[in-house]
Amino acid sequence: MSSKSQGELYPVELRRHREDKQLEVVWSDGHRRMFDYDYLRGYCPCASCQGHMVRQLKFQPPRRPVDLLSIEPVGNYAVTFLWSDGHSTGIYRFDFLLELEQMLEAATTSS
Ligand SMILES: [Zn+2]
Repeated sequence: MSSKSQGELYPVELRRHREDKQLEVVWSDGHRRMFDYDYLRGYCPCASCQGHMVRQLKFQPPRRPVDLLSIEPVGNYAVTFLWSDGHSTGIYRFDFLLELEQMLEAATTSS
C-alpha cells in the first residue's frame, strides 16, 4: 500500500470556497484550515517564483486576485494548483502546506 508512516498528516479533502476565494484543507487527523487563494499563490514553491537558491521562502503576491481553477494530485505526497493567471508549476507538498499553515497561525496569533 502506501509508505506513509503512522501519524503523518495528509489532506483527506480539499474543498474550494469560490465565493470566499479560500481553499479548505481537511487533514487526516480531523483538523481543518482555510487558506486564501492569494496566500497559496503567493507562496508558490516553484523555482521561477522562489528562485534557485532558496534560503527563505518568499511571498510574491499576485498582481491581481487569483481564482483556483483546479487541483491535481501529485503522487501521494503533493498537489498542484491551476490558477486563473495561468500558473500551475508549483508542487505543494503536504508538509509544505503544513508549514504554510503554521506560518499562518504564527501570523494571526502574534499581533
Ligand atoms: Zn510558481
